Amino acid sequence: MKFYWIKTHWLVKTLFSGFTWSFATSEKVVYLTFDDGPIPEITDWTLAILAKYNAKATFFCIGENIQQHPELFKSVQKAGHSIGNHTYNHMNGWHTTNDVYQLNIEMCADVIRELSPNSAEKQKLFRPPYGKLTWKQYKFLKEKNYKVIMWDILSADFDTNISPEKCAENVLKNIQPGSIIIFHDSIKASRNLKHVLPQTLAYLQENGYKMKAIELAPEPK
Ligand SMILES: [Zn+2]
Repeated sequence: MKFYWIKTHWLVKTLFSGFTWSFATSEKVVYLTFDDGPIPEITDWTLAILAKYNAKATFFCIGENIQQHPELFKSVQKAGHSIGNHTYNHMNGWHTTNDVYQLNIEMCADVIRELSPNSAEKQKLFRPPYGKLTWKQYKFLKEKNYKVIMWDILSADFDTNISPEKCAENVLKNIQPGSIIIFHDSIKASRNLKHVLPQTLAYLQENGYKMKAIELAPEPK
């Protein structure tokens, strides 16, 4: 079994303090994030349920998917969610040369810019696929004024070996003000997502949380 942390360890947060893991706030607000879309098979469903709960979120999109589904991408933005770059081909930074990786980031940025010329600059958010990035790749992102957004709660919705109930437990027992929660709007994660997301939204609403899109304004913890 592959190892991963559900709740990001404080030591990891400290070691990689240049990344944003969560936001410092006492206000009841959480940041839901969705990686790997947009794809019609699941993103439409995700948008509908977020709207039902009046929740805003951040979508870390794969450039190739944006290019294939531009209308869907635009509807994500129209609904008031923010957009982040997740590379053009879902690259693993540890297994990719820096030049190729940087080019792949730029390719994704180009597609985003093409479809949303007004908001591309203020949404310079990046999430590395698999959470893997080399120091040089990070430096490149910093020079380009990207904010690297990680997470402090991993739903593990992508893990088809865990039950949807376990996935919901991963999220619900770890939520706190300022949390960044990672989900996936991908086909692989859809079985778990369709269970965990409605439960999470209901829990957050009942407990008085606001669900906001990540913009560049809040300062990281
Ligand atoms: Zn991803």
